[in-house]
Amino acid sequence: MNDLVGDLIAALGPEAVLHQPEDLRVYAYDGYRSGDSLPPAAILPRDTKDVARAVRICRQHGAPIVARGSGTGLCGAAVPQRGGVVISLARMNRILEIDTRRRRARVQPGLMNLRLSEAANPHDLFYAPDPSSQKISSIGGNVGTNAGGPHCLSYGVTTNNVLGLEFVADDGEVYRCHQDDPGYDLTGVLVGSEGTLGIVTEIEVRLRRLPEETRVFLAVYDSLDAASATVSEIIGHGLLPTALEMMDRVMIKAVEEAFHAGYPQDAEAVLLVEVAGSHEGAEEAEHAIARIAKDGGALAWRAARTQVERDALWAARKGAAGAIGRLAPNYYIQDATVPRTRLPEALRAVEDISHDHDLIVGNVFHAGDGNLHPLLLFDRRIPRQVEAVVRAGTEILKRCIALGGTISGEHGIGYEKREALPLVFSTQDLAAMVRLRDTFDPQTLFNPGKIFPSGASCAEVRVGSAH
Ligand SMILES: Cc1cc2nc3c(=O)[nH]c(=O)nc-3n(C[C@H](O)[C@H](O)[C@H](O)COP(=O)(O)OP(=O)(O)OC[C@H]3O[C@@H](n4cnc5c(N)ncnc54)[C@H](O)[C@@H]3O)c2cc1C
Repeated sequence: MNDLVGDLIAALGPEAVLHQPEDLRVYAYDGYRSGDSLPPAAILPRDTKDVARAVRICRQHGAPIVARGSGTGLCGAAVPQRGGVVISLARMNRILEIDTRRRRARVQPGLMNLRLSEAANPHDLFYAPDPSSQKISSIGGNVGTNAGGPHCLSYGVTTNNVLGLEFVADDGEVYRCHQDDPGYDLTGVLVGSEGTLGIVTEIEVRLRRLPEETRVFLAVYDSLDAASATVSEIIGHGLLPTALEMMDRVMIKAVEEAFHAGYPQDAEAVLLVEVAGSHEGAEEAEHAIARIAKDGGALAWRAARTQVERDALWAARKGAAGAIGRLAPNYYIQDATVPRTRLPEALRAVEDISHDHDLIVGNVFHAGDGNLHPLLLFDRRIPRQVEAVVRAGTEILKRCIALGGTISGEHGIGYEKREALPLVFSTQDLAAMVRLRDTFDPQTLFNPGKIFPSGASCAEVRVGSAH
C-alpha cells in the first residue's frame, strides 16, 4: 500500500477506499472505453465532507482526481486515463428534499435520474431531462455531461433544469452557486464541465407539473428523406411536440424483435411523436402534426391508445441501444448535430459513408433537436471493421460540421472527441476555455486529459496550463 492510499484510508476508513486490482477494474472504463491502466484507488464517499477530505489528500500527493457517477458515459469522460484516483458518488444517492410548492428538488449526485421522477410523480411532478440511460445514469453524471434526452426538445437539457449546485473545489473547500445569484452564472459553467472544474456534491433541480394529458403517435414512412423533412416542417410551423424521435428500418427491426411494442417492421422510417398539455391543447397539436405528417408523405398515423401502449413504445425507444445486440456483437454510437433543415442531407451522408466503408448503420435519434445518433455495427474481433468504424465515425462528424452542425449533441467530449474540438473552435476559443479551467483548477487536478486536445497543434492552447 502506498502513502496516498494509506492517507485516504486513515481519513475515510477502509470501507470507503478500494485499492485492490480486482476491485479497481470496474472503475477503469465507461460506456465508451477502458483506460490503459487501473486507478491507484477508488473512493466511495458517504457525504460532502468525505469528498472534501479526499480532494485535499489527493492534492497533497499531486494525484489527479476523476469524478464518477454510473460510468454510462459514451465519450470516455469518467475513465481515469492518467491514473487518477476515482471518486465514485454512488453512495451519495439520496433525495434530500422535494419542495412541491416551489417545484424544486435537492438531490445528491449519485441518485439515478429515473428515481427522482418516480419520487416526484405522486406529487404530480416530474424531472424533465430523460436520457435513454435514465434508469442507470446518475444526476451527477448528467450534470457532468449536460445530458439530453427525448423530452429535452420542449423542456430543455440538463443545464436548463439545474438551479443550483454544491461542489468541492481543488482546494478541498465546499462552495455553493445558484442561478438566482447575481453576477456570473457559475452553475451554468459547471454543468457540462465533465468533472474538470470540481466535484458536484449536491444539486438543486427544477421539477415540472405532469401534463393533464399525454398522447403518443407513430408516423410511418417509406423513406428516410420524407420522415426527416417532416421534422423540420413540424417545427417550422411553430409546433413543439414534447418529443420528436426518429428510427430507421435497421433500428425498427432490432427494437421490434426485442420489445414487440408495435413498430411497423416494413417501414423505412418512423417518427415517434409525443404531445402533452391540456386536453384541448393535446387535441389541437395532434391534429396539426398529423396533417403535416400526412402532407409530408406519411403512409400511416397510428395512435397509442392506452398507457400500456404508450409505455411500450417508449420502452422500446429507450432500450434501442441494447436491442442492437441482436444485429452485431459491437456498435459505435456517433453523437453529432445538424440544423433540423439539413437532416435529410445528413442522413443521406450517413448512409453513403457507411456504404463506402461496407458497414451496416442504424439510426435512432432526437430528430426534433437535429441530434443524430448513427449506430455503426461491427465486430471488434475483425480489425478491418474496427478501422472502418473509426474512419466512418470521423467522416460523419466532419460532414455534420460541414452542414452547419457540431461535434456533440449530448454525450460530451471527454477523451473520445478532444482531438475534434479544433474542428469547431478556434485556438483563441480553446485558449479562453483553458483559462477558465485554470481559474478553477490551476494544477489540472480534476480529470486531466479530457475535453482539450493534446499534441503540437494545441501548443498555444496550453499556454498558461500546467498540463
Ligand atoms: C444505453 C445508453 C443510452 C444513453 N442515452 C443517452 C441520452 O439519451 N442522452 C444523453 O445525454 N446521454 C445518454 N447516454 C450517455 C450517458 O448515460 C450520459 O452521458 C450520462 O449523463 C452519464 O451519467 P453517469 O452517471 O453514467 O456519469 P459518468 O459516465 O460516470 O460520468 C460522466 C462525466 O461526468 C463527470 N461526473 C460524474 N459525476 C460527477 C460529479 N458528481 N461531479 C462532477 N463531475 C461528475 C465524470 O467525471 C464524467 O466526466 C446513454 C448511455 C447509454 C449507455
